[in-house]
Amino acid sequence: MEKTLFEKIAEHEIPADIVYEDELCVAFRDISPAAPQHVLLVPRKPIPDIAAAQQEDAELLAHLMLKVGEIARMLGIAEGGFRTVLNTGALAGQTVPHLHIHILGGRSLQWPPG
Ligand code: AMP
Repeated sequence: MEKTLFEKIAEHEIPADIVYEDELCVAFRDISPAAPQHVLLVPRKPIPDIAAAQQEDAELLAHLMLKVGEIARMLGIAEGGFRTVLNTGALAGQTVPHLHIHILGGRSLQWPPG
């Protein structure tokens, strides 16, 4: 099956500004940042979106959740506050069919989002 864009980034086939990686996940700066700090955290496993995650992915998802805080601290946005977003499907504007957690911070973020 054709690799997703984020698999290609995770495997260093396509360049990206990687800020963190380990055996399970990769985090890199969004190419079109929506905030002063905007990082995408993706599992190496190409799960299409959070709704497609299975029980067997539980440990991987827990790993990602723990990395969110670690990466936010590394980016210097944990103390002031930041947002995590998982867009799922067309109505939410998901454009890359590979689960990714947006980590956004460095400015005041409005609620509700658009
Ligand atoms: P979503 O709309 O939730 O699917 O988010 C996809 C995100 O991927 C968008 O914020 C894009 O700006 C970002 N993106 C697309 N291509 C790249 C790339 N080559 N490197 C980094 N970020 C990208």
